[in-house]
Amino acid sequence: MYAVLALTKTFDGAKVDVFERYPAPFGLVRYGVAPDHAETKLVTNKFHETLTTRDDVAFYGNVQLGRDVSLGELYDSYHGVVLACGTSGDRRLEVPGEGEHRGVLGAREFVAWFNGDPEHGPQSATHAAVVEALRSRDGDAHVAVIGVGNVAIDCARVLLRDADALAGTDICEHALEVLRAHPVRAVSVIGRRGVAQASFSPKELRELLNLRNVRVVISDENLALEPEDEAELAENRPRRRAHEAFVKRKTAGECASEDGCTKILNVRFLASPLAFGGENGVLSWMKLGRNELVGAAGARKSIASGETEMVPTALALRSVGYRAEPIQMTVKDESLTQLRLPFDEKNRVVPNAYGAVAVSADSADTIPRLYVTGWLKRGPTGIIGTNLTCADETIAKMAADFAVAPPPDPVEDGVDRLLEKRGVRVVRAADWIQIDRLERERGAARGKPREKFVSTADALKAIDRSL
Ligand code: NAP
Repeated sequence: MYAVLALTKTFDGAKVDVFERYPAPFGLVRYGVAPDHAETKLVTNKFHETLTTRDDVAFYGNVQLGRDVSLGELYDSYHGVVLACGTSGDRRLEVPGEGEHRGVLGAREFVAWFNGDPEHGPQSATHAAVVEALRSRDGDAHVAVIGVGNVAIDCARVLLRDADALAGTDICEHALEVLRAHPVRAVSVIGRRGVAQASFSPKELRELLNLRNVRVVISDENLALEPEDEAELAENRPRRRAHEAFVKRKTAGECASEDGCTKILNVRFLASPLAFGGENGVLSWMKLGRNELVGAAGARKSIASGETEMVPTALALRSVGYRAEPIQMTVKDESLTQLRLPFDEKNRVVPNAYGAVAVSADSADTIPRLYVTGWLKRGPTGIIGTNLTCADETIAKMAADFAVAPPPDPVEDGVDRLLEKRGVRVVRAADWIQIDRLERERGAARGKPREKFVSTADALKAIDRSL
């Protein structure tokens, strides 16, 4: 959406068609931002206005690149194509038992579950895995979150926050019901390196450390700093402030809630899961190995100390970074160009120069008229707003390229004919306005800002009924 705004500003009289695989737009903001961070979602007001009120912007929802339309067909139909598909996978730990136990989930799937991503709704394997895990130790479940980034904090916060406090957010009802019926007792957030290397932001950390009803446990040993860590903190203000937040919280006592604490947040640094185990695919334990830090300031690495412990665990959320996947082209490609999208397997991005797609990971040559932005361009880092500057860079590159080599007129007049032939039910801006209205109404009935349609079929049925 930032690229759409940049395109309309940069190219006078340009028309922009926006393709989205789900009926609802706004990807990461809708399916990635935590429900209790409503202010982060305010940016969708501007996006919504752009998508629904401008004559020069058209929405093609429920159209998936690769499944409904090929890259070559888009390339044949437009002067330029900008890919902004983000990351659809997550990194793995690569330890024994990770893939064999349903209770070991990617944080991406868990976040998608409570945020109503159609692939992780109440009928999904993700839902079944969370219910099974939390039910197996009803009221006494220990959840391990592996990784100490902001996604890990989002997961821990949603698990530890009182269900009543979540009830007024846009968290999906199927997730709220599970968290209400099977509250967790303890969450451990586990970092392989030390407190000075944690990547979460101080603001997010403070919010987690100050949750009502939550006892915060962190060892003195984990808060201790070696001279190399001190040197790192001296150079890094956010990390210094995060360390200070821990110290302050510890000084205030483990339970800071006046009415007591029934839930526990364990923060563990210098630890890595070495294996997961249980019976019949149900997770019940995690083998945790202790680490030591080695290396100079700025290059601190963790190595195994050899000490291990067994930790009873009902659910383990792997929050060690998202990961872009190559876009699968399953549609029968009817394009003239039969364009294939290069993918850099090592860095898990589409190789590019300032957003212009390179012909391969080891070439500086670029494919004319094809661009990339967001996490697919630079990897899964930065906050929502980082994508604004990222998109501006890509569109500026496009403008510079077009100034040197104006693009030829497209050989095809759009993809409508192809989509119609393939029986794709395109969700137009007017349809999205209906979905948005219905979601807000469903939410208002429950005292929430919005109750999302979780399945694509339900969203389509709802708009077809209201036509
Ligand atoms: P992240 O910040 O890159 O954190 C990934 C974490 O995983 C790091 O602690 C990393 O530790 C750890 N890790 C990686 N490989 C590991 C392994 N094999 N074993 C154990 N730990 C491992 O990523 P993220 O949390 O997924 O967030 C993605 C981006 O979205 C970030 O830029 C984040 O700030 C942003 N975000 C922002 C917000 C917000 O502002 N509220 C919310 C959510 C996400 P090492 O440092 O040791 O590699």
